[in-house]
Amino acid sequence: MDMLNLPIIGREEVGPGIFEVSFDISGIDFHFTAGQYVRITLPHLLYFDSKGSFRDFSICSSPNNRSRISITFRNTGSGFKKTLLEMPLGEIVSMRGPYGLMALIEDVNRDVVFVASGTGVTPFISMIQYASEIGYRGHLRLIYVNENKRQAVHTLKLASLCSGNSNLSVVYIRNLLDEDFFQKEVTQLQNAAWYVAGPPSMVLTTINILKHFKLPSENIIFEEMTGYEKISPSTPPTTHVSTYSEAKNILYPKPFLLSTQKLNAIIETSGEGVIITDTEGIILYVNKEWQKITGWMSEEIVGKVTPRILKSGKTPMKEYENLWKTIKRGDVARLEIVNRRKNGDFYYAEDIILPLKDDGGNVTEFVGFHRDVTDKHAYLTDFINKSEELAEQNKSLEDTKKAMLNLLDDAQELEANLKLEKVSIGQEKEKSESILQFLKSIGDGVFAVDMDLRVIFMNTMAEKLSGYSSEDALGRKYTDTFRFIFENDSTVSYTDFISQVITTGLASTLPNHTSIVMRDGNIIPVSDSASPIRDASGVIVGCIVVFQDDTKKRERDQLKDNFISVAAHQLRTPLGGMRWSMEALLGEDRGKLPSEVRSELEQLYENSQRMVTLVNDLLNTTRIDGTSSKEKPELVDIVNLMHKVVSDSLNEATMRSISVRFSEMPEKIPLAFVAPKSIYEALQNIIINAIKYNNHGGSVIIGMYQEGDDQIRINIADTGIGIPKEQQSKIFMKFSRATNAILKETDGSGLGLSVAKFFIEQSGGKIWFESQEGKGTTFFIELPIQSDI
Ligand code: ADP
Repeated sequence: MDMLNLPIIGREEVGPGIFEVSFDISGIDFHFTAGQYVRITLPHLLYFDSKGSFRDFSICSSPNNRSRISITFRNTGSGFKKTLLEMPLGEIVSMRGPYGLMALIEDVNRDVVFVASGTGVTPFISMIQYASEIGYRGHLRLIYVNENKRQAVHTLKLASLCSGNSNLSVVYIRNLLDEDFFQKEVTQLQNAAWYVAGPPSMVLTTINILKHFKLPSENIIFEEMTGYEKISPSTPPTTHVSTYSEAKNILYPKPFLLSTQKLNAIIETSGEGVIITDTEGIILYVNKEWQKITGWMSEEIVGKVTPRILKSGKTPMKEYENLWKTIKRGDVARLEIVNRRKNGDFYYAEDIILPLKDDGGNVTEFVGFHRDVTDKHAYLTDFINKSEELAEQNKSLEDTKKAMLNLLDDAQELEANLKLEKVSIGQEKEKSESILQFLKSIGDGVFAVDMDLRVIFMNTMAEKLSGYSSEDALGRKYTDTFRFIFENDSTVSYTDFISQVITTGLASTLPNHTSIVMRDGNIIPVSDSASPIRDASGVIVGCIVVFQDDTKKRERDQLKDNFISVAAHQLRTPLGGMRWSMEALLGEDRGKLPSEVRSELEQLYENSQRMVTLVNDLLNTTRIDGTSSKEKPELVDIVNLMHKVVSDSLNEATMRSISVRFSEMPEKIPLAFVAPKSIYEALQNIIINAIKYNNHGGSVIIGMYQEGDDQIRINIADTGIGIPKEQQSKIFMKFSRATNAILKETDGSGLGLSVAKFFIEQSGGKIWFESQEGKGTTFFIELPIQSDI
């Protein structure tokens, strides 16, 4: 029952609104018997279809045709059929099967009668063609029941088959009420094999009529066609039969199902899993397919109780109870459940369970038709299987799904959107599928990993951005597929931020300048965030990563930085010239200046100094964001450097009557391993701030000492205005200025601290502060002694 991928090679309207679609099977080892059906799955639906992306269709071509297989259907306008009809020739669909027990009898001399209505004739077309090809000798009679001509299908094909085969006769009738007609037919063809196919109600009525005219039930072979969007009109049961339940007994007569060896053989080799239990659920028989699906061998489980063997813990107990009640009542039960194979894997199963009854109408056994529909739920199953390994043994599907929901920031909103209520397993799956569908289709790349960092989910955008398909990635370490690199200057390092999220349990964001290396080697800049996945009890079971293609944003940033950089450079040159002239004038190289001129010139010089600082800060911010080259670290005497910073700031301090002092310092402070120019600029920014945001007559005290084995600590404490508490968290951000600072110092860019922080961190250091409004601020800086960056 492998899935075959087949190209569409033909599409033909064979009646009004009736289509025959053909698929290429040339060179493929696929066999079926005339009368069987297949399941077609579409790769995607162009239109919504509440029944999903697969359907069963009877085969109308002959099994002797080794190059193509054809199906027929009425275009009911469903999303599935519309899609199938619009898919261009050459597109691929998936096919499973063949299914169904209906086959032409082996005795080629026996007469056969087919009774069909509407597209129900499809399997008979295949059988009639096949019979003609193999030289079937018995008479073939098709009774084709259609309320109006429009419902008839394949009329041309039938006409041509009739003209080439004198053994074949077709009679069109309008409905099943024609008693005289049926009486005559049944009497004449008493010993023929009677095949009935069509919508369930038509099949039922026909069987009742045939039985009414004393046709032995072993001569009747029937198949109810499923998937009827609209049941074709057919006559209600006639007065000859009384009730529906009586009709059911006719449908499943025990001797018919189990008495003949041939039927046993068919059941044994059927593509459908078959299980028979006694009324207590004790297993009496399982066929080959059932053993294949579940992994249990017949000899291991005959005599055991069914649900206990297959129970996955993921189907609510209520489902089993309802099932049990239904079949004990003698009714047919259908359900979809999550089962467990012998090897522990989960799978989705569709089950139809029929009670078998004795002549007195008592239930004697149950027969179950078991179908593995895991493919339909491939993603979901994979997710459950994987997360099951992660989550504690007996976490329910509900728990796992909740964990999945926890990872979405907007889980609540989603929950509301999806109207999550307590629902049955069927809806439960639909719901989980909707979430997965949602995750799959959103515009950001999304993938999830388990605790072993193996990919358990990835969406379409993640496939696009990585260049790998889910098939390649699922179950493998995420680093095989998602190669994130951190790029700055000439250094490129692979980042493993996900392990960090899993160990710390804290959400994280990728550092700037992260890119992903695609399968084809292309590199795309990305930004992203990673959050831990927790199960219902809060235990971390994996990590989910959401990332975006940042190409456009980075281009914009680059443009902005280039602009600032060019503007700042252009400003610096004339500023330098101006300062040089002012210095010459103030140095009185060109003669003594009148005192008023001198003081105004000093003011000018002061202002130009501020402009230089601003222009430098602007240039530095472009260095923060840009990729301009990083200054190399070296061994630096930080005490000396600090003295230089202080002496360079002395003018500013004297002007404001601020004293700047060093507190008592240890004799020996080791050399720091930092980028000297950057650290000079950082320290200068902080010292100038401590002077600027101080009160007249205030002080700045600098302390320096070795901290631990590998750090130098610098404390810069002032007695100034302080930073208001509510603004403290933003103070290192670009352009951020506290309100009290703006009042005190109208000009200031809010760039100095962000630059300082960047430089200190780039040298492998740290910066933080403590502040009290009105009392003062202390900045703490740590710089590395050894090279560990
Ligand atoms: P600027 O000084 O140009 O405003 P900075 O980035 O250097 O920009 O500083 C940002 C803000 O941080 C200042 O505007 C001020 O509000 C606050 N700040 C920095 N240092 C101090 C300090 N020593 N005392 C009080 N506030 C400070």
